[in-house]
Amino acid sequence: MTKSTPALKPKTTSVVTGGAGFLGSHLTDYLLKQGHYVIAIDNLVTGSIANISHLVGNPNFKFINQDITEFIYLDVPVDYVWHFASPASPIDYLELPIQTLKVGSLGTHKALGLAKHKNARILLASTSEIYGDPLIHPQPESYWGNVNTIGPRGCYDEAKRFGEALVMAYHREHQVDTRIVRIFNTYGPRMRLNDGRVVPSFIGAALQDQPVTVYGDGSQTRSFCYVSDLIEGIYRLMMSETHLPVNIGNPREISMLKFAHSIIAATQSKSQIIYTPLPKDDPKLRQPDISTARQLLNWEPIIGLEEGMELTIAYFKNVVENLSEKPRI
Ligand code: UDP
Repeated sequence: MTKSTPALKPKTTSVVTGGAGFLGSHLTDYLLKQGHYVIAIDNLVTGSIANISHLVGNPNFKFINQDITEFIYLDVPVDYVWHFASPASPIDYLELPIQTLKVGSLGTHKALGLAKHKNARILLASTSEIYGDPLIHPQPESYWGNVNTIGPRGCYDEAKRFGEALVMAYHREHQVDTRIVRIFNTYGPRMRLNDGRVVPSFIGAALQDQPVTVYGDGSQTRSFCYVSDLIEGIYRLMMSETHLPVNIGNPREISMLKFAHSIIAATQSKSQIIYTPLPKDDPKLRQPDISTARQLLNWEPIIGLEEGMELTIAYFKNVVENLSEKPRI
């Protein structure tokens, strides 16, 4: 009698759009650790191969260089689609307003189409920006927001709002299994030194003893979440049963002026603080209400700002040192 070979359990397959970006690449690492086969799709407009170069040769990882506003063809079954592709820093989306609108609308449409065709569960990476310059503080998911549709941030905010609406339409009309995460300010290794966001901007300047530029009077606040906490929360959300939006972020709020001082102190920098005008529509306050995540996902952030900043400063020290390295002859 011949022994029959037991059928191999097929691997769980995840597609990560924006897989070479800051969040997409951390998510990819996390999913690989969970045993998923990961297909990362990215057109590298703001993402970088450097973020995934450590995965070259990993048999559970595949990279596709593609703009996801074009039809996505995959010849394998897919279990999860994580839709993270989008410019996400204010200077990026100010420079790329049309790509930002297209990836948030047409790209979300393609990602939903893929999920529907593959009968996969899909999670949209939405944002605290859908709350605009909020009139309610902290922001619960029930708040509808205060967005200037025609302002400079409108391309990002409205693309994400449209994305949420499209996800809900696919959920209701086609019964696609959907999730929406509203991501608040997140930081950590693999942010781009020059992406203009406040964390790389302050740390980069401080490490080089250059002026730290505070916009406005620095009284505006943000609440920063370390990337590993965020990814854990997002994974729990995908595996949960809720299709309604959930805020993921760290509620510890700090003013930008205080944040500038703390970065200068943490890097023992000689930098001075200088002030430049506050960009138009810059939200004055931002803090997530994470009661839903606490309750539904049993999640809350565990990395404090000091610890997370230490890890991030160490990462940027390396980046800055490589910048100043003289080319070898
Ligand atoms: N900011 C600043 N200096 C900088 C970059 C940003 O003072 O060099 C401020 C910005 O005006 C905002 C906050 O820091 O109030 C966070 O900005 P970021 O670009 O990181 O993201 P946002 O939360 O506005 O999307």
